[in-house]
Amino acid sequence: MLNQLRRIIQEVNSARNLDQALSIIVQRVKETMQVEVCSVYLKAEEEQQLVLMATEGLRQESVGLIRLAADEGLVSLVATREEPVNLAHAPEHPQYRYFPASGEEQFAGFLGVPIIHHRSILGVLVVQQRRAEQFDEDHVTLLITIAAQLAGAIAHADASGEIERLLGNHDDALPSKPIKGQPGAPGVGIGTAMVMYPAADLEATPDRLAENIEQEIENFRSAIIAVKAEIQQLSDRLKSALPQEDFALFEAYRLMLESRSLNEVTIERIRAGQWAPGALRQTVMEQLKVFHEMDDPYLRERGEDLRDLSLRVMAHLQEGHAHNGEYPDNTILMGHEISASMLAEVPQGKLKAVVSVRGSRTSHVAILARALGIPAVMGAKDLPVGRIDRLHVIVDGYGGQVYIAPSKTVEIEYRRLAKEEDTLKSELMALKEEPAVTQDGEHISLYANTGLLSDITPSLNSGAEGIGLYRTEFPFMIRQRFPGEDEQYQVYRQVLEAFNPRPVTLRTLDIGGDKSLPYFPIEEDNPFLGWRGIRITLDHPEIFLVQVRAMMRANVGINNLQIMLPMISDVSEVDEAMALMQRAHREICEEGAAAQMPRIGVMVEVPSAVYQMEGLARRVDFFSIGSNDLTQYLLAVDRNNAQVADLYDSLHPAVLRAVQQIINGAHAHHKPVSVCGEMAGDPAATILLVAMGVDSLSMSASSLLRVKWVIRNLTRARAQEILARVLSMEKTAEIRDYLHECLDVAGLGGLIRAGR
Ligand code: PEP
Ligand code: MG
Repeated sequence: MLNQLRRIIQEVNSARNLDQALSIIVQRVKETMQVEVCSVYLKAEEEQQLVLMATEGLRQESVGLIRLAADEGLVSLVATREEPVNLAHAPEHPQYRYFPASGEEQFAGFLGVPIIHHRSILGVLVVQQRRAEQFDEDHVTLLITIAAQLAGAIAHADASGEIERLLGNHDDALPSKPIKGQPGAPGVGIGTAMVMYPAADLEATPDRLAENIEQEIENFRSAIIAVKAEIQQLSDRLKSALPQEDFALFEAYRLMLESRSLNEVTIERIRAGQWAPGALRQTVMEQLKVFHEMDDPYLRERGEDLRDLSLRVMAHLQEGHAHNGEYPDNTILMGHEISASMLAEVPQGKLKAVVSVRGSRTSHVAILARALGIPAVMGAKDLPVGRIDRLHVIVDGYGGQVYIAPSKTVEIEYRRLAKEEDTLKSELMALKEEPAVTQDGEHISLYANTGLLSDITPSLNSGAEGIGLYRTEFPFMIRQRFPGEDEQYQVYRQVLEAFNPRPVTLRTLDIGGDKSLPYFPIEEDNPFLGWRGIRITLDHPEIFLVQVRAMMRANVGINNLQIMLPMISDVSEVDEAMALMQRAHREICEEGAAAQMPRIGVMVEVPSAVYQMEGLARRVDFFSIGSNDLTQYLLAVDRNNAQVADLYDSLHPAVLRAVQQIINGAHAHHKPVSVCGEMAGDPAATILLVAMGVDSLSMSASSLLRVKWVIRNLTRARAQEILARVLSMEKTAEIRDYLHECLDVAGLGGLIRAGR
């Protein structure tokens, strides 16, 4: 049975479209279960009806015609009950409804199971038989298993508008609902979809015998040279927008193009008789297979970089062109896999937003989009890429939503929001030089989070009082090997100098979890509970020492450095790290530099740290709450998993209690405490954090002035009243609603959307 099931699912998954998938299901289920009828009914959103979409056994003419209202027929009964209905004599059931067009009067036995995805009923899968008998347990479980497996594919078809199209409700075949993804970079972008697709199709390139081996080798070499020149041009084009440091990405591309594994291996294949395009395909497919088998999402993404580059090479081999270079003024770059190089290809000023089916907020393209201030939505897996080129679209980078050919109402609403945003931004700019002080005189320092050198200017412009979190893993991620001490020194020095005399908190390398390095693969079943952050760097003192030495050397003569340790779960980690940092400091002084020992702090982001505040406080100078990880670990909800994203909220009562406990613990030992996770930039959370007595908040530069506005419109006393009420609430949704109401009453409602 399991094998049959696998075969059905495989066939369905390789179907070209929903229509074909549904007919495979009904045919195969009918054969496998040896029943007389198998049918699929799907919910038509607009009328809330269940519509017969495919059948084997009922009359084909009834497809699309049989439509059942919510209280009509046994199929609807299955949907309302959300459980299987298994009847020996269906026509005798009070809810049975007979459709003469179907020819179903001959069938007595009825089994229907609901198709449910994330708690929503998408449809019903039905089998019927002449025999007046109930179906046996095996039949029921097989049908339930198939329905559960199909639910994901049907939800995708629904979201991308395919069901509506099959039902003929939309002749333009476009989704009527927004396509959901992950917010990749904030902002609203309105413009024309420019769908990027590979200029050459790698997989489709055939094998062929080379007619002239030397000529083929020559073609291949020239294609590589041409692509190197293209990449150089792209990087030149971005020169004015990105600082030198962030160009390591293009350096990585160049190294990939020069690699032995690409060049020599392909040339060997050509020498063995294969023509250049075939040899390139074989080499790249072989390497991609290795990349794809890696569990690590970051390394898998590097495989996509290789694919992107080799497609460019292929385009040259085939004398094609990657793109004709004409981009409209309001370009919305969309595609299956938007790469950093595609983004760089659009002339500055024309790019309004980016949407990619694949990738997440940690993909290079999202990092670049944020650095350039362009809204982005990542992981928009239901985007119907084949049907949207040149259409009008709206990209909501705050909420991670994309509207294809939006209605007038949606467009008006988003234009209004975009305008409000602009007004809000200019109103907020007036606060830039103002202090973040509550109306009763409480000062909360506001710092910026960064990790790219290109973020420094926006951070300075936002009026940040310093850097509260510099994620050092970004400069590590865009290289092909660990950066050396001098390379790191240059990066850190620039940041420390730019903010001098304001404090800059450099966090030591926090790789592992979802952040990995292409040259340091980590294979784990549970990476977030595995070798991460301080655990890795303590196991590799050579990496840790080089990094802290670079930091301390960069601090010489400036003295605004603070060092922060990530993922601390035990005091002995602090002791060990402290010993290494003291050693590094001693060495630097012995080498003759006038280095000062910086202030050292820890992130409180693992629940065990919450209960060790006393021991930690004795060892360090400051604390910073990593609400992103703290929330994920306290609630046992993967911060990157879209399936459970609804459960992830830093306003959960348990998280709020932990945060309060951390702040109290730090203050009991007279140590300052900050929040540097996303919570710090959420205006709703600001009220509570002020009430709890947090000393500083560190957030992305784009949130900073909004948070300042909330602080300046609050009194600590009022915030404390609100906190008391919130702590009496048991449900996260209730807390969020109440806080939004409070912001509204204070006239700060406009901040909520953007602060999400
Ligand atoms: C956090 O966990 O809240 C945090 C700031 O660190 P990161 O998001 O880099 O894990
Ligand atoms: Mg963290």
